[in-house]
Amino acid sequence: MPQRDLIILGAPGAGKGTHAEYLKNHMAYVHMSTGDILRAAVAGQTELGKQAQASMDAGALVPDELVIDLVQERMVELGAGVHYLLDGFPRTVGQAEALAQIGAELDRPQPLVVYLEVSDEEVVRRLGGRRMCGSCGAIYNLYRDGLDAGDRCPECAGELYLRSDDHREAILNRLEVYKRQTEPLIDYYQQRRRLVKVDGEQGQRQASEQVARLARGESDD
Ligand code: AMP
Repeated sequence: MPQRDLIILGAPGAGKGTHAEYLKNHMAYVHMSTGDILRAAVAGQTELGKQAQASMDAGALVPDELVIDLVQERMVELGAGVHYLLDGFPRTVGQAEALAQIGAELDRPQPLVVYLEVSDEEVVRRLGGRRMCGSCGAIYNLYRDGLDAGDRCPECAGELYLRSDDHREAILNRLEVYKRQTEPLIDYYQQRRRLVKVDGEQGQRQASEQVARLARGESDD
């Protein structure tokens, strides 16, 4: 089977961005992270950024219409043979239904959905230790990568920062929002036979390679 359009689904901190980065570097994918697009809009104080900022800082979801428009704009620009990799979208059943409609209008085959399974305790631990590089955008974890708070980016020496929604209160809220609004997508995609589960607590490299095999349509033994 040829390469597939892909959705990476999972709790905050499950590793969606990390595995998306791996796939982008090893396969021909156009990576669409609604979180990255929204953070750039907030940093640039665009109209979209101003509308999204308060929800994001509180760890809540921004309204469906805003993110659906974002994704639709980018999907329309994709060529027929170009594959997308969605990370952080869809996050609600309404978004999943909109995506199915956009895909049908553009005559794209249905995407494969990779669900990264990670326990709540691990999510809280990972998000508290997550650091982003302000220069190159790399994602690190203090525990996993053996870094100390205050260290600089090992790749480009940029400053590492804690995302404004990675403090404890917002983390707990994001987990709650995830369970209430996003977890129903597991059933949604399972019923449509499009969901494949991947252990998000195995080694990072192993999990990335497993996701890449699935994306290439190889059997997952
Ligand atoms: P992420 O980087 O994917 O964890 O997203 C960071 C924040 O951006 C989320 O906590 C939401 O506030 C917002 N966001 C990102 N993607 C979506 C989406 N698909 N629907 C609604 N809000 C989103």
